Amino acid sequence: MRSFKRLLVTGGAGFIGSNFVRLLRSTRPEIEICVLDKLTYAGNPANLAEFEGTRGYSFVHGDICDSAVVDSLAAKVDAIVNFAAETHVDRSLMEPLAFIDTDVRGTAVLCEAARKHSHRVFLLVSTDEVYGEVREGRSREGDALKPRSPYSASKAGGEHIARAYAESFGLPLLVTRGSNTFGPYQYPEKIVPVLITNAIDDLPLPLYNDGSAVRDYIHVEDHCRAIDLVLHEAPLEDPVYNIGTGVETDGNHVANAVLEIIRKPKSLIQYVADRPGHDYRYALDVTRITDLGWEPRVTFEEGLEQTVRWYVDHPQWWRPLKSGEYWDYYKRNYRPLTTPSS
Ligand code: NAD
Repeated sequence: MRSFKRLLVTGGAGFIGSNFVRLLRSTRPEIEICVLDKLTYAGNPANLAEFEGTRGYSFVHGDICDSAVVDSLAAKVDAIVNFAAETHVDRSLMEPLAFIDTDVRGTAVLCEAARKHSHRVFLLVSTDEVYGEVREGRSREGDALKPRSPYSASKAGGEHIARAYAESFGLPLLVTRGSNTFGPYQYPEKIVPVLITNAIDDLPLPLYNDGSAVRDYIHVEDHCRAIDLVLHEAPLEDPVYNIGTGVETDGNHVANAVLEIIRKPKSLIQYVADRPGHDYRYALDVTRITDLGWEPRVTFEEGLEQTVRWYVDHPQWWRPLKSGEYWDYYKRNYRPLTTPSS
C-alpha cells in the first residue's frame, strides 16, 4: 500500500479527472491535490467549482506540453496521475495533430518531469481503444496494440513513450486501460450524453450505421475507484491494468434504454453514416484488476438511470456547452446514412 502527500492531477477539469478529484477529496482528504488543465473545449472549471478555495486543493491553468510549467509543479508532488488528453475519436478524424501533441508529446513531458523529480509513481490513464477492434475474444494486457484511429494511436504512442521511460530510466509507471465511461460531467458530444441531452430536447438520437457496435460501458465512479486502487496498491513489475465491467452493450441498447428512462418515443433514433475506421467491438479481460481487489458496483441500468437524472437536473451545466462551435462540429460529424441506390 502506497501513500501520497501531494498529487498532480493533469486533465483534472475534464470528465473522468474531475470525478477522480471528487473521489479523492471525499475518501483521502489528507492528500493535497494540484490540478493542471489547459481548459480545452472539453475542460470545464465548473466541474471543480466545489473545491475552489478549499484546503489542500489548487488549480493551475496550463498545458502538459509546457515543460517549464510541468517541471515547477512536478517539483512539489510525489506522483502524477495523467488524465489530460485529446479524447474524442470523432474529433481525431478532423484534427489528428492536436492529439499527437497532447497525447504523445505531452505524456513525454510528464514522464521527463516525473523522472527528474524521482516521483514514486507516474500513472497514465489510457484506454481499451489501444487494442484496436476485437471481433472475438477479450483483450489481455499483454496483447499487441493495434490502434486504428488517430485518437487510439496517439494514446498508444503515449503508452510506448512511458514504457520506454520505465525500461530505460526506471520510471515507476502504472497504466490503466479503461473502457467506455459514462456518468455526470461528461462533455455532451460523447455518445451517452449526446443521446441523453438530445432525448431531453426531442432531437434525433444519432447512431452510427445500424447501432450494433459493441462497447463495455463502465460508470465513472467505478472507473475512478479502479484507478485509485491501481495508484495505491498495484505492484510496479507488470504495470498495465484493463478496467471494465466485462458486459457487452451495443448502441441500440443504450439509445433504447435512454428513451425508456426519459419516456420518449423510439422513433427518435436516427441511423447515420458510419465513422471511418469504426471499431466494431472492444472487449476486455478484467482478471488482473479483479484479482487486485476491484469489482464494479454500479450496473449499466443503475448508472444510466442516475446519469439521466443528473443531466435532467443540471441543464445549467450542459445547455451552455451545446451552442456555437458545438453544432458546427455536430453537423460535420453526423451525416445522413447513404443507401447503395442513393
Ligand atoms: P475529457 O476530454 O473530458 O477531459 C480531458 C481533459 O484534459 C480536459 O479537461 C482538457 O482541458 C484537458 N487537456 C487536454 N489537453 C490538455 C493539455 N495539453 N494540457 C493540459 N490539459 C489538457 O476526457 P475524459 O473522458 O475525462 O478522459 C480522461 C482520460 O481518460 C483521457 O486520457 C482518456 O484517454 C481516458 N479514457 C477516457 C475514456 C472515456 O470513455 N471517456 C475511457 C478510457 C480512457
